[in-house]
Amino acid sequence: MSIESFYEYPAGVALSRFLEGLRLGRLIASKCSACNHMIIPPRAYCLKCYRPIKEYQIIGEEGRIVTYTRSLINIEGKPANPPVTWVFVKFEGVDGGLLHVLDSTINPQIGMRVRPVFREQRIGSILDIKWFTAV
Ligand SMILES: [Zn+2]
Repeated sequence: MSIESFYEYPAGVALSRFLEGLRLGRLIASKCSACNHMIIPPRAYCLKCYRPIKEYQIIGEEGRIVTYTRSLINIEGKPANPPVTWVFVKFEGVDGGLLHVLDSTINPQIGMRVRPVFREQRIGSILDIKWFTAV
């Protein structure tokens, strides 16, 4: 027996800006107008000085892999062939980062320069990024 579970919750002001950016094929970070701290995914309040965020900014697409891991099973729990490579990507001058999958043809390395590959059909989801690939 299985029990289906489904729920939704609002993304909020900051994450909505991020998701809208993805729909347009852009990466959006929050920028604090008081201390200039930038973070992705964006936050509603500055993590450094706690002031409300009023500014959101498109950032450059190029980032660097700071860590990665390989998974031998896919998101459905079935064997993945080839294995799925999960990467955490950070962007110059921006705190935070994005966790996503890497182009399956790329052999990951710490510090590797990567960029997101956006899907042609986008809906405002993290899955609007197909994967990151080497620059
Ligand atoms: Zn601040």
